[in-house]
Amino acid sequence: MSDKRDYYDVLGVSKTADKDEIKKAYRKLALKYHPDKNPDDKEAEDKFKEVNEAYEVLSDEDKRQKYDQFGFAGVDPNYQGGYGGGGYGGSGFGGGYTGGGFSGGSGGFEDIFSDLFGGGFSSGGSGFGGFGGGGRQTYHGPVQGSDLKVRLTLTFKEACFGAEKRIKIKRMEPCEHCSGTGAEPGSKVETCSTCGGHGTVHVQQKTPFGTFTQESECPDCHGTGEHISEECSVCHGKGLAKKERTIKIKIPAGVNNDSILPLRGEGNAGENGGPKGDLLIYIRVTEDPVFKRDGDNINYTLPITYAQAALGASVTAPTLKGKVKMKIPAGTQNGKIFKLKGKGVKNVNGHGKGDMYITIRIEVPKDISAKAKSLIEELETELGPENHAENEAFWKKVEQS
Ligand SMILES: [Zn+2]
Ligand SMILES: [Zn+2]
Repeated sequence: MSDKRDYYDVLGVSKTADKDEIKKAYRKLALKYHPDKNPDDKEAEDKFKEVNEAYEVLSDEDKRQKYDQFGFAGVDPNYQGGYGGGGYGGSGFGGGYTGGGFSGGSGGFEDIFSDLFGGGFSSGGSGFGGFGGGGRQTYHGPVQGSDLKVRLTLTFKEACFGAEKRIKIKRMEPCEHCSGTGAEPGSKVETCSTCGGHGTVHVQQKTPFGTFTQESECPDCHGTGEHISEECSVCHGKGLAKKERTIKIKIPAGVNNDSILPLRGEGNAGENGGPKGDLLIYIRVTEDPVFKRDGDNINYTLPITYAQAALGASVTAPTLKGKVKMKIPAGTQNGKIFKLKGKGVKNVNGHGKGDMYITIRIEVPKDISAKAKSLIEELETELGPENHAENEAFWKKVEQS
């Protein structure tokens, strides 16, 4: 995913662009690079695909949010990086765009194309892959598998640095006994007599406006067009069976509490060859006793002594990657914030690193011996008015108000 351009850059909009801006930018570019206008222009075709991909994500609130959170990892079906899991031979559905991710959900697409190109946009024609004949409206009924949701708790540091985790899930997979066909091995598969193998039947509907004929899924074969003489004894004809799997998950560095990590195609298997659902990992991050996260930045409060603040000192300050020495200048005031650049959390989308903000807290002595008391009193007399400038300025303001 190294040479992929940021989706916002592709559309030339800012990260805060609203739906209308995105739509407008998309229209302009889609019109410019549309294959009909640029026949045999490979570069335009690539641009067109790029623009479409960006729009597909940014126009969908859910996908946009995932993209903002995880970058391409959040929305790219091919981002299988370390996920490894899965393991079964698979019925050939890679999951993702082609299967119906496009056609079904987002809607916005066809709208735009129909008003751009007068509705002429539909199936293959213009030569870019991806959308078009998606599965849902056809009758031989592939149904996408449902998503699985799993909660995963990470330690603060695992979230900051990323981690590899194994989780156990139970999901529907193609039945091994019948290889997902739903038929007992050795049984016969016949053409459905109800629909003659079409998978659809015509149903007449009488309405006040007349009688209409509607095509609908065959109730006997549920759209497969086939009839099985003996159902699989394990899955009872469903073609799917519940399986326990251990999935290896690569948690990207920089994830935060309450984010959702989608693993494409790791959910339940689809029916009738439909694409798999996703596995959605709901991430919870435990609190750290010291470090507090604010986006990619880390904040914490460092107590130092009164003498260190007054005289200056080299103190030890913890960071995510161990302790560092930090110079406290003489005369440092309580509440002063020091910034350690780049010592925050790696951005989950690869946009650099956050910073670390250390707030100084001066620990005022309170368990004081008689000797310490007399020394502080002596010190107080010794310190001239130049050391109480703030106090004086404050009272001046009070008098003036
Ligand atoms: Zn049938
Ligand atoms: Zn079976």
